[in-house]
Amino acid sequence: MKLDLCIGYEQRAWDGVVVPVREGTLNRLRLPCDGELQAICGQGAFSGRRDEVYRFTTLQAGRIVQYFLLGLGPVPDPETMLHSCGTVYRQCHGLSLSRVVTDLRGLEGMTPPMLQKAAEAMLLSGYRFDKYKSSPDPAGVSEAAFCCACQEEAFRQALDQAAAGGEAACLARDLINEPPTVMTPEKLAEAAGKILADTPVQVRVYGREEIRQLGLTAFLEVGKGSIQEPKLIVMTYNGDPGRPERRLGLIGKGLTYDSGGYSLQSSEFMETMQHDMSGGAAVICALWAAQARGLALNVTGIVAACENKLSATAYVPGDVIHSMSGRYIEVNNTDAEGRITLADAVTYAKQCCGVDRIIDIATLTDGIQTALGDRRCGLFTNDHTLSAYVEAGATASCERVWELPCDENLRRVLDSRVAHLKNSAMGSSVGGYATVGAMFVKEFVEDTPWVHLDIGGTAWSRSCEGIYAKGGIGFGTRLLFETMCEMEKG
Ligand SMILES: [Zn+2]
Repeated sequence: MKLDLCIGYEQRAWDGVVVPVREGTLNRLRLPCDGELQAICGQGAFSGRRDEVYRFTTLQAGRIVQYFLLGLGPVPDPETMLHSCGTVYRQCHGLSLSRVVTDLRGLEGMTPPMLQKAAEAMLLSGYRFDKYKSSPDPAGVSEAAFCCACQEEAFRQALDQAAAGGEAACLARDLINEPPTVMTPEKLAEAAGKILADTPVQVRVYGREEIRQLGLTAFLEVGKGSIQEPKLIVMTYNGDPGRPERRLGLIGKGLTYDSGGYSLQSSEFMETMQHDMSGGAAVICALWAAQARGLALNVTGIVAACENKLSATAYVPGDVIHSMSGRYIEVNNTDAEGRITLADAVTYAKQCCGVDRIIDIATLTDGIQTALGDRRCGLFTNDHTLSAYVEAGATASCERVWELPCDENLRRVLDSRVAHLKNSAMGSSVGGYATVGAMFVKEFVEDTPWVHLDIGGTAWSRSCEGIYAKGGIGFGTRLLFETMCEMEKG
């Protein structure tokens, strides 16, 4: 989709015009269709309440044009812009309006971040995954322009930022939405290579034997029940070569399918378990966005990709497995496999990649959805300097986070009879499952500054509304990208 800025739109033919309006300001608005506007004001048909949409049709130079007045409420902010614009743009895509302009000239309090969110909403609401359908979904908007009173550099930058973040999130959705037998660890590695081809990001993929030599033994245990070979995907971006000692590690959980293994999941959960690599998809695509914007930052992205399957060769509850850190893990639940792969990925990042801080992102627990719902992820940290960047990234991306504690007293539920620790709280009635998952990862992070993002509740959408389509959300892609932008600012 083509995104553009303009200072006027009357000269060109558009199929749709979207006019975001602050509540109570309609009578001050000036539009080409002045007569209609006065009638709407006179009838009190539109007040500008948040998410209120008033649609009417005009004839302009022999052409039918759909107008959408979009209410933003009394105090519009970027987050309102993202979701309200998402709602109305979804209608535009559904009506197959090919060229849509958004008139922001009369919007009081308009800022570059609000433009950015409008443009992201256009990309995200237009996302579709129809390659396996007999007839494709109707074509949506192909050309979108945003009309501002002036074309300041800050608005141009905001549009470029939206293009990078929005496109990255759509790429992540593509990776997640592929069926699990298509998007295997090997295919995910190939996709990472393709997405990052012709970019400054170097991609290295390690197969089973190399992973064994590197020492990620716990990771291999998780993937051992599958005929699909595990792949360790390592992506290196040297955007700040003058400061080689500074390097961010981004680690994304990469379970391309999670049956739960011998601790088998119930069938209702299994249906969507292809999305257990959403963290990995976010890391791959956020790195793509970071290089597209030329961020001056050193980053290593790591995805330990494998399948958790049930077979004669799979690991079983009761196993004691060796990890790269040298510690043994008692497996009491083969469905708590993501944290085992993260344990080795974290150790690998520290020992082999020279990272000085780590952010991991993972569909780690269902408990996080119980705590925070389906639109906000959990944040756990041992370093509030680092987490402040992630909080700022959350504000900029409008992908919400909420910090939950790493309560040391919950560590006791992982005490093991035979090994350094158990991998799950199964059998304990203490609760706090998201925290326990974070505590497991923290054990391997040790003193390295670290943020853990649990996206177990926010990765998959069951409904089609606004910026969300049914299926993978790509949650965390824009969050990680904006976090890196905040870090670049220092
Ligand atoms: Zn699992």
